[in-house]
Amino acid sequence: MAETIYQQLRAHVHELRLTAIAEQLAPALEAAERDKPSYTQFLAELLAHEVTAVEQRRLQGRLRFAKLPARRTLDQFDFSAQPSLDRRLIEDLATLRFVEDKANVLLIGPPGVGKTLLATILGHRAVEAGYRVYYTTAAELVARTAKAAIEGRWANTMRFWNGPQLLIVDELGYLPLADEAASHFFQVVSRRYEHGSIVLTTNRHIVDWGHVFHDTTVAAAILDRLLHHATVLSINGDSYRMRAHRDAVASLRPAITGGEFS
Ligand code: ADP
Ligand code: MG
Repeated sequence: MAETIYQQLRAHVHELRLTAIAEQLAPALEAAERDKPSYTQFLAELLAHEVTAVEQRRLQGRLRFAKLPARRTLDQFDFSAQPSLDRRLIEDLATLRFVEDKANVLLIGPPGVGKTLLATILGHRAVEAGYRVYYTTAAELVARTAKAAIEGRWANTMRFWNGPQLLIVDELGYLPLADEAASHFFQVVSRRYEHGSIVLTTNRHIVDWGHVFHDTTVAAAILDRLLHHATVLSINGDSYRMRAHRDAVASLRPAITGGEFS
């Protein structure tokens, strides 16, 4: 009798695809025979296995979808390298309230100052907090949108750009976005307006965006929507790469000037 019930239980667990419970069932029952937990406790612990496994699976799914650069965390960000950066502001962004508020973040600064790094840190935090995130570059965004327009998948692609609760658009400004590309970029920004967050990084100051989009009217329209609810961070410090480079050179200097070669 007990054997039949056990078989039925196993069949049900498989039918419901409770894979973590399926794995735990035999050892859990064995431990329960021994430890005699309450019914509530037994059931709660068994279900907790499944919930943990499902959450883990979803996290991995969101992570795969997001296409983010490798995981980086806030404690890996060296604030001493960017003294002009308001640390509290970054820590406030890291709470992800801006995602909840469907607000935007603009990271503006020259190459190498940590814009992609900050965007990556925020992106991973958001994935881990359960948000749908997608990382792309401005060039990739307009290329995909243009391709979709040609192939008759415009509506689908617009839905795609609208899907994530946080869209990270890296590297605006390295390539100029003329005509169609500027208009496509505008449409993505405009549809996400008050609907989902954008973290945008750019090497071009806002006053130069007329050049980026080859059109001051489009640039103004994009900025109007982006900046309405936005945190703008200008990072003006030295390039971190150059800094590391310079430090390496400086550390060699004593050896060079210290007499060995003189
Ligand atoms: P950007 O996107 O502004 O061009 P990156 O984010 O790619 O710059 O940073 C360039 C390199 O320097 C990366 O390897 C990054 O991890 C590192 N880096 C930049 N700023 C910092 C920082 N404040 N702390 C630690 N690493 C940094
Ligand atoms: Mg970058």
